[in-house]
Amino acid sequence: MKQQISLHNKVVDYSVRRSNRAKRMRLAVYCDGNFVVTVPKDFPINSIDKYLIEKSKWVVSKLDFFEKLNKRQKLSLGDDGFVVYKDKALKMVTERLTELNNEHYGFKFNKIAIKNQKTRWGSCSKKRNLNFNYKILFLSPRMRDYIIIHELCHLKEFNHSNKFWRLVAKAIPNYADIVEELKLKGLMIG
Ligand SMILES: [Zn+2]
Repeated sequence: MKQQISLHNKVVDYSVRRSNRAKRMRLAVYCDGNFVVTVPKDFPINSIDKYLIEKSKWVVSKLDFFEKLNKRQKLSLGDDGFVVYKDKALKMVTERLTELNNEHYGFKFNKIAIKNQKTRWGSCSKKRNLNFNYKILFLSPRMRDYIIIHELCHLKEFNHSNKFWRLVAKAIPNYADIVEELKLKGLMIG
């Protein structure tokens, strides 16, 4: 549910997520500026604003920080972002993928490549090649891990069946939360 509130003269958008597991309210500001308020299932919606006003200093400082960071990043990425960052992305993905694969699965794969895909974070081919978008470098570690695990699991299950998601859950039990966050980022995952 999308909401809006004015904090320190700044109009702040946030979305409310109800969770069966949440015991109390949780605030999260993500690096892309998305602000998510998670509340217990029966939390009264009209109490949220009061709490946000109490925490307004924290919220606004986080939003400002990421806003500045994203502006800088957009400038430095430009059209050459892929050229500049692909080697770094390959190193990061290769290291982390090897770690995660050894720890949880032990699957055999062919090769890892970094691409400049317009619409995808990653993909896995029938030839057991794993492709990742170089922009994975700018995601949080938990999102990177999720994308890597997702593609790794396609080596065993070439679909999005229940079996596939059970395999993902072996490494990331709370993957559903991350899937939701990733949806807000625009690109899809293959
Ligand atoms: Zn997939």
